Amino acid sequence: MKQVCNYMEVLVEKYLDSVLEEWDICKCEKCRKDITALALNNLKPMYTSTESGNVYVKANTYFNPQYAADVVLAINMATKIVSGEVRHE
Ligand SMILES: [Zn+2]
Repeated sequence: MKQVCNYMEVLVEKYLDSVLEEWDICKCEKCRKDITALALNNLKPMYTSTESGNVYVKANTYFNPQYAADVVLAINMATKIVSGEVRHE
């Protein structure tokens, strides 16, 4: 079955851990979701239709180094915002 997926979500997920390693902030599921959502708001979505489970294969086909640079920048900006707003332990 085909599904519509935002390729940028795949990239944010792919780079989130390596970007967060550089930051001394809370890395719980809630904060990660906040960072992911904020980063995606700053990125132009790129929708693709794909067979379910096949999204990574499709993502590699479309890979462009500029997307990675944009995604890493957006994650850093989002992390900076979230790190100033975290109010839970
Ligand atoms: Zn947290």
